[in-house]
Amino acid sequence: MTKRFFLETVGCQMNVLDSELVAAALLRAGYRRTFERRHADVILFNTCSVRQHAEDKIYSALGRLKHIKEQRPDKLIGVLGCMAQKDREAILRRAPHVDLIVGPGQIGHLVALIEERERTSEPQIAVALPRRGHRRDTVAQSFALYDPDRLTAARAQRHRAMVRIMLGCDKFCTYCIVPSVRGPEQSRPAAEITAEVRALADQGCREITLLGQTVNSYRTAENGRQVRLSDLLERVAEAEGIRRIRFVTNYPRDMTPDLLQAVRDLPKVCPYLHVPAQSGSNAVLKRMKRGYTVEQYREMLAAVRETLPAAAVTSDFIVGFCGETEEDFEATLRLTEDARFKNSFIFKYSPRPGTKAHELFPDDVPEAVKRRRNHELLGLQNRISEEDNRRFIGETVEVLIDGPSKAAGRTTFAEGDAEPSAVSAANGEKLQLTGRTPCDRIVVFHGEAKWIGRFARVQVERVTAVTLFGTAVSVES
Ligand code: SAM
Ligand code: SF4
Repeated sequence: MTKRFFLETVGCQMNVLDSELVAAALLRAGYRRTFERRHADVILFNTCSVRQHAEDKIYSALGRLKHIKEQRPDKLIGVLGCMAQKDREAILRRAPHVDLIVGPGQIGHLVALIEERERTSEPQIAVALPRRGHRRDTVAQSFALYDPDRLTAARAQRHRAMVRIMLGCDKFCTYCIVPSVRGPEQSRPAAEITAEVRALADQGCREITLLGQTVNSYRTAENGRQVRLSDLLERVAEAEGIRRIRFVTNYPRDMTPDLLQAVRDLPKVCPYLHVPAQSGSNAVLKRMKRGYTVEQYREMLAAVRETLPAAAVTSDFIVGFCGETEEDFEATLRLTEDARFKNSFIFKYSPRPGTKAHELFPDDVPEAVKRRRNHELLGLQNRISEEDNRRFIGETVEVLIDGPSKAAGRTTFAEGDAEPSAVSAANGEKLQLTGRTPCDRIVVFHGEAKWIGRFARVQVERVTAVTLFGTAVSVES
């Protein structure tokens, strides 16, 4: 009988991409995917360690599976990704019923590890080397690159895909666990990336997002010449069929003029820049070891506005980082007010064992204060986002249509479902659809299921802080 797998993903876009690759490998090995945990023979969690909350969610999910494992010992449970890399002993101690612990650098071996677990009945553990105590190159090799042939059926959307251009991170911001769990920074060869993009275009992909923790730090050498992100964008833009190119996440210090010019001059490259500031206070930025001052961040923003006046810039902020005073927080509010980000992702600081901040600074901002600052900054950002969105009322925007909106029952449009049955059934009828503009604004309008994956022009009628609502005026055939 065909075995079925269930795969739940927590965390960032890197994890979403890793999950797509895991799903593709399992589908190729003959498994079927199920979105019901109770129907699965193999239950997998692709995990995140960036904040405590993400880890807690996984431990409670694992706890709930304990009695199921007692009743059905043949069901396999696997913890993949960043928690596996960071905490294999803790996972085995807290959830001894786990069968597979596989770090992000080893997920390429997952199918073989499942087979080995079935053959030997021994738990299988595969993680990369820790960064401390080994040579950088040796550690880098242990975080093996895994971007095999892409499989459309494993993607949530046929028309949109992510392509990893870098692994790991070497910036070591003091609060961040990513350099430990994702390993040293490594840029993929440009030829490999362009080949992957061409293959995705052949599969019907229209929008590509290039991924890296600090994507604009991308650098490789080719025949003795350096290839930077700006060069790579030029090459990727040559792929026929690809209509939009994005790249995330940018590191403020590496937002160089050549990159801004490439975004300006290459029509396929979307004027959308995610460049996290993290804080508006120099004292906090220094403790975070972000490598820039708020004045330098503002200069970078001015250069973006000068070269790309219509670009949408977005940010991440951490509130309540160690030692953050009211004055520091007010400096973050000022930066947000002045920068007019399209949106910001705001996080309460979560101490991470294994990071410098955890080692050096007490987590001294009370939870209630973190919560209040989070709420206040979000309120300010929402006000700005809504004001900004109002400019679009009466305008016509171009969207790439993603699928039914949440209100139209998007829950039925499950991740990895290439031809969602609920959507096919609605063919011909009008349903609420959602798409994105080049600036990554979400647009909701009515249309037909067969429009999904196509470009449309939508006239905007009303807006909120996060959504534009309108009417489709034309759709590409
Ligand atoms: N590489 C990206 C960058 O440099 O912006 C993103 C890395 S991280 C997965 C995404 C965001 O999580 C960060 O930008 C930061 O705001 C937040 N983050 C990272 N560590 C955190 C921590 N310990 N507590 C709270 N938020 C954190
Ligand atoms: Fe973490 Fe900083 Fe690297 Fe981003 S740049 S992944 S925040 S260490």
